[in-house]
Amino acid sequence: MTASVPQNDPKAAYLAQRPAIDAAIARVLASGWYILGDETSSFEAEFAAAMGCRHGIGVGNGTDALILALRALGIGAGQSVATVSHTAVATVAAIETAGARPLLIDIDPATYTMDPQALEQALAAPPPGGAGIAAILPVHLYGQAADLTPLCRLAQRYRIPLIEDCAQAHGASFEGRPVGSFGDIACFSFYPTKNLGALGDGGALTTSDDRLAAEIRAIREYGWRGSRYVSERTGVNSRLDELQAAILRAKLGHLAADNDRRSAIASRYDAGLAGLDLALPSRGPGRSHVFHQYVVRSRRRDALRESLQEAGIGTNIHYPVPIHLQPAYRDRLASGPSGLAQTERAAGEILSLPMFPQLSDAQIERTIAALRAALA
Ligand SMILES: *Cc1c(COP(=O)(O)O)cnc(C)c1O
Repeated sequence: MTASVPQNDPKAAYLAQRPAIDAAIARVLASGWYILGDETSSFEAEFAAAMGCRHGIGVGNGTDALILALRALGIGAGQSVATVSHTAVATVAAIETAGARPLLIDIDPATYTMDPQALEQALAAPPPGGAGIAAILPVHLYGQAADLTPLCRLAQRYRIPLIEDCAQAHGASFEGRPVGSFGDIACFSFYPTKNLGALGDGGALTTSDDRLAAEIRAIREYGWRGSRYVSERTGVNSRLDELQAAILRAKLGHLAADNDRRSAIASRYDAGLAGLDLALPSRGPGRSHVFHQYVVRSRRRDALRESLQEAGIGTNIHYPVPIHLQPAYRDRLASGPSGLAQTERAAGEILSLPMFPQLSDAQIERTIAALRAALA
């Protein structure tokens, strides 16, 4: 049975802005220029400004953005990158693709983001048999910033770069400043279901460092700098195309309103689900949450999910298996000295409720009613 309240609905996001998106697509088709042109450079400037950074660089997807960030910072073979296991597999896959080793840090169970104390312990006792930790890569999961004050302080103390994975947090802020402006480099995905989504693949990096920006621009296109067809360094092909850039320009203007709607939906859920035997999302101090996902927590998660499905309410689990327990990674990834107990516990209890800006009030009420009935 297809859910009558979907967990997500990228088509609804398209239909909500159809005239502007169709016009953007028509403009690119008629232009005769389809890769790295005016749409991409305009989007890069507009996006960087919105994220409080000097430079934006469009790339093929969010995973590539992470790989290019690591490569531009010179991080690769023999080095460890501290990140989390409670994330999209892309974060860890990118570290390995860049040639480095992921070092997994446990999460704070309230915000599901990197636990700064666990990171501090890992930095004090780096993994045996390798160079020290070369970079910190926190993920602003579900639309909420990681605890950036201690994370930035630790990066400074150990003189290592901080890379922000902002793939789920476009427009979120920490103490009044947009995420993506804290790290040496920040990485964004425009996968269709993200808070800012393309109609295909897309990604971007932001930085305020001129040298890093030039380096990333070179790496994304074969290492070309001044002249085409001459590689000044080794690179790859990872470009944002003009169609996606034009679509993203149309959608960027709605990001703040979309995030406000997500926040309003979250408040309705908060009020409607209060008092149940269900842990609701917490908002860390100083953080504006843009609710990429609205994640509740229950020891009876699987039964709850089944009841909701029977009631026609779509849910999802982000993510059901921590990366260090997935077949491709099991028994071979390093973790911090404090272990990954919170990560493993969360994976068994979390549930993502329907969350997208076009969700109607009636659909929200149906979801709340179904949850109340299931938990009665
Ligand atoms: C979506 C996502 C990515 C990867 O983005 P793609 O565009 O799918 O490659 C990376 N990190 C996180 C946390 C994500 O949610």
